[in-house]
Amino acid sequence: MSRPHSDKKLTRLISKAAGTVALVAGLSLPALHLLINYQHELAEVETLSRIHGSLVTSAINKNPVMWRFEEHKLQGMVEDRAPDRQHATVHRILDTDRQPLASSAGEALAWPRITSEMVLYDATRPVGYYRVERSLRDLLHENLLFAAGGLLLALLIVFPLRSLPLRALRQSQERLEHMAHHDVLTGLPNRALLEDRLNQAIFYAQRYERFVSLVFIDLDNFKTINDSLGHDVGDELLRQTAQRMTQAVRRTDTVVRMGGDEFVIVLFDQPEKAETITGTIERIREQVATPMSIGRHTLRVTCSMGLATYPHDGRDSHTLLKNADAAMYRAKELGRNNFQFYTAEMNSKLKERVSLQQGLLRALENEEFGLVYQPQILARTGQTVGVEALIRWQHPEFGLVPPARFIPLAEETGLIVPIGEWVLRTACRQNKAWQQQGLPPVKVSVNVSPRQFKEKSWTATVAQVLAETGLDPKYLELEITESLIMEDVERAIEIMNTLQEMGVQLSIDDFGTGYSSLSSLKHFPVARLKIDQSFVRSLPDSEDDCSIAMAVIALGHRLKLKVVAEGVETEQQRVFLHDNECDEMQGYHFSRPVSAQEIEQQFLAAPLAPLSDAA
Ligand code: C2E
Ligand code: MG
Ligand code: MG
Repeated sequence: MSRPHSDKKLTRLISKAAGTVALVAGLSLPALHLLINYQHELAEVETLSRIHGSLVTSAINKNPVMWRFEEHKLQGMVEDRAPDRQHATVHRILDTDRQPLASSAGEALAWPRITSEMVLYDATRPVGYYRVERSLRDLLHENLLFAAGGLLLALLIVFPLRSLPLRALRQSQERLEHMAHHDVLTGLPNRALLEDRLNQAIFYAQRYERFVSLVFIDLDNFKTINDSLGHDVGDELLRQTAQRMTQAVRRTDTVVRMGGDEFVIVLFDQPEKAETITGTIERIREQVATPMSIGRHTLRVTCSMGLATYPHDGRDSHTLLKNADAAMYRAKELGRNNFQFYTAEMNSKLKERVSLQQGLLRALENEEFGLVYQPQILARTGQTVGVEALIRWQHPEFGLVPPARFIPLAEETGLIVPIGEWVLRTACRQNKAWQQQGLPPVKVSVNVSPRQFKEKSWTATVAQVLAETGLDPKYLELEITESLIMEDVERAIEIMNTLQEMGVQLSIDDFGTGYSSLSSLKHFPVARLKIDQSFVRSLPDSEDDCSIAMAVIALGHRLKLKVVAEGVETEQQRVFLHDNECDEMQGYHFSRPVSAQEIEQQFLAAPLAPLSDAA
């Protein structure tokens, strides 16, 4: 891979800086040595010229005649004063024209030299100069040796000086590169790298007539775990899951984290045998589903997988990815924890999803929504004490669309907020209308989705709807789920308190399916727990479910909450729940969700006959 221009520039800059630093470090000592010695020599030469100049001046003053005629005496004087041969110093006496009169050495000194002169006086008249000269050649020689040593030192240190920052630079570049192509949390390749790996796998398959399988994976219950047990647990779960997926496939395969709880695996160089692929996928599924312990929790996540294969299901990375996603979506629809091969009709499912999404946009305006109500029965007496409002969508093209299919879509797009407001208003208005008709008052339960609950103006909306419809707040119950509360417990409690202060009742829907910490349950200002249908379904045959149902009832009563069982379909279930002191029940055994009119006629105007107690 060629390095970008800016890198080369930076490398050059670092090399230059390292060279300069090494040179300065290596040569500064010899330079300092030279400077100090030069100063020293200069001072010495000056001192010599001053001392000897003064001595000669005093000799002249004592014997002025000598100055003119006794040159040999002058010669003797300079020779006496210049014993310092080893320093290559020459003393000279010059006349006023600087012509030598006497000199301690005949030959000229080697270059470079330093010189200092002192004026000689006869009385006050200048008669000549005393000059001291010194050659610095020896000093220079000595310093050259030093400098050579310094250069050697510079050479020795320039490499580490250069390579250290270069290595740091390279490492940080590698880190950046890694970050751009990998997911920070799991260390797996990310979406950006997927395209590249998938294309390579496709090119290889094209050339050698092989296959590439793309597996799209989505964890099934991750959101609940993340919301209720916290992001640290969620993160660790993703890390361990990523590791397990990597272990379940070959090293040549690529496991990619697409974001959130979505993963994609590129199975490189596949034979076409379906059993081989099925085997691999089963292995991944088993690995993921094996319980893992995180902190004090033991968790089990399952996953839904969709598979698309090159070349049948797509010839380019984009199509393969889209089709594997569609297959995964189908796996989700089929109850999760399974895998689906892509088929052409899945695309039409995907199209349907898109058209549902678009349809939702107009559904409110076109008045395509309606509400049905399901009675909630007091276990002791069989009396209808409440109704749960459930939304229905009459789609102009697809007919009746069940809430499970469009509520998640509405939640994703945020449309649940206006839709939820419509449900709340319609249900409150209906309940008020029943009361105005003189029917016995009942509670109406309205389901609240997480997105609605998070809306800042949510409590204000509830207050406004109550004021507008004139319904007494005690006849409104809002059903919220455990996972919704666990997303942000403190804030949820705050909102619940506000609603409670308004006089609105609260219940926890689908209790037992989330991961709410039982200890925080006592802080929730709720009036009722609704045991999820999944625990009611196998009553009274499944021992486990019996224990769970009994435990929830006991727990609820301990916390002074009423317990409602959902999805009661059989007489045996009713008897079991009744015997175990479940307070209220709701389910097909009593009634399917029906129109307001049917509720009015069958349950409010003519309440159910009291239920006989099971013996
Ligand atoms: P949920 O709140 O738990 O509602 C109970 C669901 O169980 C309803 O399904 C109801 O028809 C169904 N059910 C009742 N009795 C039985 C029974 O004996 N056996 C079986 N198998 N099912 C029974 P539905 O109406 O399809 O609603 C499904 C979910 O959609 C609801 O679950 C709720 O979470 C959501 N939902 C429905 N209406 C609304 C709404 O207006 N707003 C929001 N946010 N969610 C809604
Ligand atoms: Mg409900
Ligand atoms: Mg429920």
